[in-house]
Amino acid sequence: MVSKAEIVIIGGGISGCAIAYNLAKKGMKNIVLLEKEYISSGATGRCGAGIRQQWATEMNCQVAKLSREFFETAEEKLGYDHDIEFKQKGYLILAATEEEDVQSKKNVALQNSLGIDSRYISLEDARELVPILNTKDFISATFCKDDGHLNPWHTTLAFAKASERLGVKIYTHTEVKGIDHKNGEIFGVETNRGYIQTNQVVNAAGGHAQVIGDMVGIELPVYSERHQILVTEPVAPILDPMIISFSKDIYCQQVPHGAFIMGRGGENEPRDLRNTCSWDFLEKMTETALSILPNLKKTRVLRQWSGMYNISPDKQPIYGDVPGMKGFFLAVGFSGHGFMFGPATGLLMAEFILGEKTTLPIDKLHITRFEKGELMWEASVV
Ligand code: FAD
Repeated sequence: MVSKAEIVIIGGGISGCAIAYNLAKKGMKNIVLLEKEYISSGATGRCGAGIRQQWATEMNCQVAKLSREFFETAEEKLGYDHDIEFKQKGYLILAATEEEDVQSKKNVALQNSLGIDSRYISLEDARELVPILNTKDFISATFCKDDGHLNPWHTTLAFAKASERLGVKIYTHTEVKGIDHKNGEIFGVETNRGYIQTNQVVNAAGGHAQVIGDMVGIELPVYSERHQILVTEPVAPILDPMIISFSKDIYCQQVPHGAFIMGRGGENEPRDLRNTCSWDFLEKMTETALSILPNLKKTRVLRQWSGMYNISPDKQPIYGDVPGMKGFFLAVGFSGHGFMFGPATGLLMAEFILGEKTTLPIDKLHITRFEKGELMWEASVV
């Protein structure tokens, strides 16, 4: 392992790998990425990998759009010789309450003003898109044909491999145990495999972001919460778009090889760092899924798993530096949408770290927003 680095990125999920790639692409040398397990072992490899530009805030619409544009030609850009399986067959958002219906109309107006091709549709239109959909509990829907889902493993590996070709040193099974710092300055990181001298550290540690914050004596305003998801046996293709209902608490997709993958926000999930599973999730998830997609009644569940949402007070990411700790950067707090933000996170963070003008203004996502009371509330979160 190298003993010196220009910058050390902690975390081999989509965020860390995309930041490493963008920094290297911009010419930074001696970049090191440390991952305590293996690439995508955190939330990234456990997520639904749904991609949607249908958000209620301008910031999220733009970040998601920037990422969607990248995903469309990611294999080519990253020189990856596998398919990242971007199934771009749309995302259908179902409104079950008057409030959601009103919000949907507002969202579509905002999205269209930003060049996102979403539309407010009737339940009849929704059934045309998804003939197996039971719409009895819903009022309306919105749909964006450019949204969809992809394979999080291939996508993250594509970033990791492209980074390595640009000279980034990636060390897996290498855990950061401490950060050497004094008087607001960083001098190095201590790992289970030795010490690396550096003045710059990126915290892209997902569910462990607060543990890394503690290493420099900073209590980050984030916590981690378990979120579960399940996969069924593969069946013939019957669901094109990804579907979601916020108030019914379900998102669901059929992946290219035929399996259904579905998850929920979930209440009363533990806020610890364990990737455990519950029987309660399986019962509630299948019950909700069958109320919306009754045709799945005979489809068998193969397994369920969990991952961590890392959650900030407004459920939005925290991008940027940290006052009082020179060279310490944050890409944390993504809640349930850090995967779809991945390419934008990589670009915006690399620009910020290098002191460039960022492609999108990210000052609203800076950590100082919490003490200023300028939270970035977003209505369309899971
Ligand atoms: P992670 O992928 O968690 O990566 C952090 C990495 O840091 C981990 O691999 C971890 O091992 C490593 N690490 C931690 N501590 C250390 C240390 N001390 N030393 C070295 N390495 C360390 N997002 C979407 O956009 N769409 C979805 O449909 C979606 N569905 C989801 C479903 C579920 C069930 C879950 C749990 C999440 C979902 N998300 C979704 C959210 C998304 O998965 C995350 O926001 C995103 O993957 C975060 O990526 P990351 O790289 O920041 O963190």
